[in-house]
Amino acid sequence: MQFQSAEYVRSAGSPEQFLHDPFPKMVFAGRSNVGKSSVINRLTGRKNLARVGASPGKTRQINYFFVDEKLYLVDLPGYGYAKVSKDEKARWANLMEQFFRREGGRIAAGVLIVDIRHKPTADDVTMFQWFRDSGCPVAVAANKLDKLKKREIEPALTLIRDTLQLRDTDTLIPFSAEKGDGKDALTAYLLAHCGAET
Ligand code: GDP
Repeated sequence: MQFQSAEYVRSAGSPEQFLHDPFPKMVFAGRSNVGKSSVINRLTGRKNLARVGASPGKTRQINYFFVDEKLYLVDLPGYGYAKVSKDEKARWANLMEQFFRREGGRIAAGVLIVDIRHKPTADDVTMFQWFRDSGCPVAVAANKLDKLKKREIEPALTLIRDTLQLRDTDTLIPFSAEKGDGKDALTAYLLAHCGAET
């Protein structure tokens, strides 16, 4: 299962730049360095669509990518990078607040990307809650699966489930942007929610 085409459309650093059109929006969030750009690149089969390894904390914009002429991948700026200034953090929080207030009801599906090796952070829990409060379905992609030994996987997934208080109906996908694991499951998840446009 593979998306065929993907193009960068625009970046939004303020609400006037949010994109409004009828195509469903799949919104991706995660802390800096979790591999969000790599996940988006893997899903779209494009090496450089979203920038990988961009200096953490420098990408304070929402990026929109149009995929297969039918849906948007919306890349929210990463969070939780320790070296970001107080001002930058405030700007991020403000942008997120505006985004979820104005656009929350129009999110077709959310994807929270966490690091499978670590307990989700307080910021991850908050972000998950923002998706929840928006009323959209949320999938959690537990990235960097390739960094765990087989026997470590189940306990890691349980810790993520428990920390985020996932429900049985929530989708948790072990993912490796590096190797490709989980790509089909996450693609199927996005396609399944394509009809959820408002
Ligand atoms: P972002 O800041 O969340 O967009 O993260 P990036 O996509 O820039 O990735 C951060 C770093 O993690 C880069 O060095 C990636 O190569 C690495 N990375 C991303 N996904 C994976 C993965 O699934 N496995 C491994 N081993 N490394 C990954």
